[in-house]
Amino acid sequence: MKQIPILDVGGVLISTSILTEYFCCDLDACGGACCIEGDAGAPVTVDEIGEMEHSLDAAWPLMSAQAQAVVDRQGVAYTDPEGELVTSIVGGKDCVFTYYNYPPTMIEGLPRGCCLCALEKVFRDGRSRFAKPISCALYPIREKHFSGGLIGLNYHRWAICDAAIRKGREENLRLYQFLREPLIRRFGQAWYDELCEVAHELELQSLQSSEDESSDNEIDEARSM
Ligand code: SF4
Repeated sequence: MKQIPILDVGGVLISTSILTEYFCCDLDACGGACCIEGDAGAPVTVDEIGEMEHSLDAAWPLMSAQAQAVVDRQGVAYTDPEGELVTSIVGGKDCVFTYYNYPPTMIEGLPRGCCLCALEKVFRDGRSRFAKPISCALYPIREKHFSGGLIGLNYHRWAICDAAIRKGREENLRLYQFLREPLIRRFGQAWYDELCEVAHELELQSLQSSEDESSDNEIDEARSM
């Protein structure tokens, strides 16, 4: 099938790889590295900054001393060089809200704690009302904003997530299925239902196309006999 790279679903531009690629986070393999790799914090809105501040007391004991010092100095977010509001980070890369579980997991042969989100932890424990910024919940889908209010969704490929691709294949889970909850949180149930219909349609087209290809091959083989 000829791959259509971008689709318009309910006014949101979608990279087709979100519908076709397999993905399921494998924390045992990656250790939650997306919270501590990279050179900037996660994008946040002004409303989310308010929510993070509201959750701060509950999350505080889980945060490292360095992270607490950064938050004391500059707050839970800052403006990055591109002018975007992002979560504050420690040492130029770790999100201030990261903490480690124990016992440690093995990463590249070395024992290391799995990195988790303090905001999410206190939310799940019923001690705050805010789960975590939507950009974190949607990762590795990244939201892009264009002029006129147009929104685009891209699949951000990163080697640290390679194990998630393998696990997604094993679990038969596509990226849009794995991120069902955050996609509904961001765009609503009706929009997500439409996305599923588009994904189903795309799959049917792909199956049809491979059937056509295999019958073409059979004809070619028959003619060459
Ligand atoms: S997004 Fe990637 S790095 Fe983050 S938890 Fe999932 S697989 Fe691991």
